[in-house]
Amino acid sequence: MSDYDFKEKIKVNHVPWDRNTVEIIQINIGKLCNQVCTHCHVGAGPGRLRENMSRSTLEQIIAILDNTKGVTTVDVTGGAPELNPNFRWFVGELRSRDYTVIDRCNLTVLYEPNQDDLSEFLSQSKVNIVASLPCYSVANVDKQRGDGVFDKSIRALQELNSKGYGKEDSGLNLDLVYNPVGTALPGDQVTLELDYKAKLFKDFGILFNKLYTITNMPIKRFLYELKSQGKYQDYMDTLVRSFNPVAASQVMCRSMISISWDGLLYDCDFNQALSMPILGDEASIWDVEDFQFINKNEIVSGPHCFGCTAGAGSSCGGSLV
Ligand code: SF4
Ligand code: SF4
Repeated sequence: MSDYDFKEKIKVNHVPWDRNTVEIIQINIGKLCNQVCTHCHVGAGPGRLRENMSRSTLEQIIAILDNTKGVTTVDVTGGAPELNPNFRWFVGELRSRDYTVIDRCNLTVLYEPNQDDLSEFLSQSKVNIVASLPCYSVANVDKQRGDGVFDKSIRALQELNSKGYGKEDSGLNLDLVYNPVGTALPGDQVTLELDYKAKLFKDFGILFNKLYTITNMPIKRFLYELKSQGKYQDYMDTLVRSFNPVAASQVMCRSMISISWDGLLYDCDFNQALSMPILGDEASIWDVEDFQFINKNEIVSGPHCFGCTAGAGSSCGGSLV
């Protein structure tokens, strides 16, 4: 087997590789973003105006959800999802049906034009926020996410705290995402969370709920960076050496479906970024009536899956074991 043959690794370790019940629908609502981060796996940025999910596509997703049992959570990502003109309407539709809604927020979007009332909207709608803050140091954050991003992110977190986010018993969840700067695997999630909580509270009075540690995936911008620095093979070797079958049996694609801005279906956001559609075929929301249609089908995999299964594992909800 080739060193990076993920399918063979799964087979020899007897890891189940089919989908259970779909509980989470993750929707990449568009690639437009006000930032251009070095590790961005969707290649988002300010120039990607055209790739935004339309109202009719969102209406079709709602129609399928209305036919589907077992989905509890809709995870809205991007780009900066709030920049899609249909974002607030869509959130309203989902919340009126009692779905848990996650907004993957880059924080700085709160200070984009016409977003002055965004924190108020999110708190009133009881949307859970998952926000990236790859470090509590200005230098590391600005290196990965752009000049001035750290200061704006801190201001945004303070604003969200003022609306009740991150505070005990408020029902307004504010979770942060950490991913390493460079080629290391993330450290222990519990220890890092304690560090983050102590540091952010001491320096800025910031409160949050959970910290999710996420491994940098060897795809898109991060892959180009690895290759240009001659570090791709070392990074892949680290991931493969750290393969953890227990983490592999709990990967997020076993309970979710991912939808791209144009309505195509994928096993996860990373497969979406790599144009590897579900079942290896181009199925879209226009072909299905129920999101559970895909249960028990094999998940499409590739060498990048070693990123989800190394060490403690990695998913959009942090480490897996
Ligand atoms: S904020 Fe998120 S979507 Fe935007 S460029 Fe950075 S990683 Fe990509
Ligand atoms: S990259 Fe996607 S398909 Fe591969 S293990 Fe991770 S979540 Fe599953």
